[in-house]
Amino acid sequence: RSCLNRIKKTQHLNAYISVTEELALKQAQEAETRLSQGAPKGPLDGIPFAVKDNFCTKNIRTTCASRMLKDYIPPYSATVVQKLLDQGAVLMGKTNMDEFAMGSGSTDGFYGPVRNPWSYTAPYREQSSAAPDSDWVISGGSSGGSAAAVASLTSYLALGSDTGGSTRNPGALCGLVALKPTYGLLSRHGLIPLVNSMDVPGILTRSVSDTAIVLGILQDLDVQDSTTIPAPASLADLPVDFNVKNLCVGIPKEYHAPGLSEEVLAQWSHVADMFERSGARVEQVSLPHTQYSIVCYHVLCCAEVASNMARFDGLEYGHRSEVDSSTEAMYGSTRHEGFNDVVRGRILSGNYFLLKQNYHHYFVKAQKVRRLIANDFKVVFDSGVDVLLTPTTLTDASPYSDFTQEDNRTRSAQEDVFTQPVNVAGLPAVSMPTALSRQGLPIGLQLIGPALQDRKLLSVAQWIE
Ligand code: GLN
Repeated sequence: RSCLNRIKKTQHLNAYISVTEELALKQAQEAETRLSQGAPKGPLDGIPFAVKDNFCTKNIRTTCASRMLKDYIPPYSATVVQKLLDQGAVLMGKTNMDEFAMGSGSTDGFYGPVRNPWSYTAPYREQSSAAPDSDWVISGGSSGGSAAAVASLTSYLALGSDTGGSTRNPGALCGLVALKPTYGLLSRHGLIPLVNSMDVPGILTRSVSDTAIVLGILQDLDVQDSTTIPAPASLADLPVDFNVKNLCVGIPKEYHAPGLSEEVLAQWSHVADMFERSGARVEQVSLPHTQYSIVCYHVLCCAEVASNMARFDGLEYGHRSEVDSSTEAMYGSTRHEGFNDVVRGRILSGNYFLLKQNYHHYFVKAQKVRRLIANDFKVVFDSGVDVLLTPTTLTDASPYSDFTQEDNRTRSAQEDVFTQPVNVAGLPAVSMPTALSRQGLPIGLQLIGPALQDRKLLSVAQWIE
């Protein structure tokens, strides 16, 4: 009830697309009975959680923040959602996002932008001259609603999706722990796809140990998702006395990217020094193909989007245009009316990259570059580096008015410079809050590990915490 009350009090954040109040109260009551009988289903019994609106939820509207799916009610729940429900966790609602998870600000959805809860906290407000309703900072994205839900204390954990940074980016800007697990560790069944070869469900919480508990529960092989892989060991319990003495921490030199703010850079060096002072070996390393990651991601993303979006034709799911002079015309206007310009732009680009005469030049080349990027990480980890320490974002959260300016939009792909290579390579990464900026907004740093070393990554994150 207190979470539901907070949802009402924080409506201005626009974190939720749907609030499942009745269901939440019913589930909470059932959990209360179990707890009073001393028979909880597990550590998450009765714990409120929120789910990004691109995960299917049985009998609950799932919109992807798109007009195309504004009335879509799935007949089944995503595997990861079902696992949380089976544990007795209480679903508070479905969270706001960029349309079909395309974006880094949660400013591009059909239901309007998400506001970062830190816009309304004392340290930021005291320094900002603007009125709270005219200038507020973005939540990051595309899982901005999930991050805002956890940061504003209306849920204790939330599911996001991470294709190029969409869980870590809002996690960093909202001051949360945000995990992008190894590709395949968590089932994608029921997660409406953006880029199937890079999508993973992400976890947003307020502490590393919470993330470990949730990861332990969600991780599983799933017959519904043939890309799932078994976990090497239990992921739920982190060692209590993790020692960084024998740890080798790599600092990729290419991540000193243009646009990196002085404050984020200072935090990055500060935490690297902290490792060094505690006996870890901190080494500069090189990931030479980093500079190609954004374009490589872009080509692969658009190509997969072009193929994924073909299902939204006005016949099978969602919105259907009234224009019915021909089937082609109906397809065309359905998509024109149903998708925003970001989605339509990617469908067009993707189909262009996949044209017979372009396929080798763009798509096949991007696949090769993808291998080179993945190999950069492999070489570094094979040389004895345990984890990489990097920033998560270039700066702290931007004011909405800056972020949405036309000339900033073209630059916005650059925002994902630290996060996208991780998805391209399928590796695990965690972003965690380490400081507040002078403006009073959270700064996050990222740890990247070798595939399936999610537990070790969280252990290092907990050490920083
Ligand atoms: N910002 C990236 C994009 O727009 C990543 C999005 C994501 O991770 N879902 O594609």
